[in-house]
Amino acid sequence: MTHDPASLAPATLAVAAGRPPRVQGGPVNPPVVLSSTYVSQGVPGDELLYTRGGTETWGPFEETLAALEGGTHGVVLGSGMAAIAAALADVPPSGAVVVPRHAYQVTLGFLDDLARRHGVEVRRVDIADTDAVVAALDGADLLMAESPTNPMLEVADLPAVLAAARERGVRSVVDNTFATPLGQRPLELGADVVVHSVTKYLAGHSDVVLGAVVTNDDATAARIRAYRTLHGAIAGPMEVFLALRGLRTLHLRVERANANAAELARRLAAHPAVAEVRHPSLPSDPGHRRAAQQMTSFGAVLGLRPLGGLPAADALVDAVRLWVPATSLGGVESTLERRRRFATESPTVPEDLVRLSVGVEDVEDLWQDLAQALDRSQA
Ligand SMILES: *Cc1c(COP(=O)(O)O)cnc(C)c1O
Repeated sequence: MTHDPASLAPATLAVAAGRPPRVQGGPVNPPVVLSSTYVSQGVPGDELLYTRGGTETWGPFEETLAALEGGTHGVVLGSGMAAIAAALADVPPSGAVVVPRHAYQVTLGFLDDLARRHGVEVRRVDIADTDAVVAALDGADLLMAESPTNPMLEVADLPAVLAAARERGVRSVVDNTFATPLGQRPLELGADVVVHSVTKYLAGHSDVVLGAVVTNDDATAARIRAYRTLHGAIAGPMEVFLALRGLRTLHLRVERANANAAELARRLAAHPAVAEVRHPSLPSDPGHRRAAQQMTSFGAVLGLRPLGGLPAADALVDAVRLWVPATSLGGVESTLERRRRFATESPTVPEDLVRLSVGVEDVEDLWQDLAQALDRSQA
């Protein structure tokens, strides 16, 4: 790209970054290279040698995501969990990690595994309670933050907790999967490292599992790349091709999904069969004021608790016709699930919490289906 990325708007970066050099007759898109090995008579250390160590298909995606996050390095890995494992790899044995008590359940499972095998102390906190987070940072090695959290949609005061971490020499990682770089840029709010499940909004079409790390720190980026090679946590070229193709329309998808989510949240809040709805767009939401300060849009995941508890929640999921009952989120299609159906979900997540991932369909069709399912859930 010939322009200075810092001067371009995110919508332009999503489209224009990571393109091949402009040459007459050259392709507009970066080529997908399907080769496990490269012709090389040189010494090991040649830039392209063997695909576990690097392939030219990664760079354009990494460059585009890094530009969107305002970071200097992007590193693509085989899944969101591979990205999180890489970002957490330097937590020392018997170290301490601060994490939201409501966070992605496999992230919590990963930390529990570190606790069992390496004596790592896992300090689970209410990430919305800034005093509690700051207190937990004393003597910690790393803050692994989510905001909004999965699945409870709690909003952290990111500038405050990231500054507190920095003051105490605690490294910070923010999982930005829910917000996307269009909704929130954690590096600018003070984070050392951003991780993504690219599987979700960035790729956006529920057809690929992929992860990424973004950072401004050269040494951290080198460490993550080394981790990727040593652990074989690499992304396949076809997956990266799909993810970059998805990224080109991120701004359009996120804009529509977020608008749909805000409208549905507003209608749900007024529906007689709804006990509680969580979405940071709602002025009544506990996270609204903070989200309005640190986010540029509120995301497209909703938390919903119907009146009638667990049976009503199950009946709601059974009654939808257009919405897809499925886990995961961030695809063009709207999905929903009751999170506690997983035995591994945190026991403080309410049994009747249904997590909705709002897609890019027509909002009236989404509402009609949800409203009829809510009515049937009360039978
Ligand atoms: C899905 C998800 C992950 C894990 O990503 P995978 O690509 O499934 O490995 C991590 N964090 C959050 C917030 C997620 O939603």
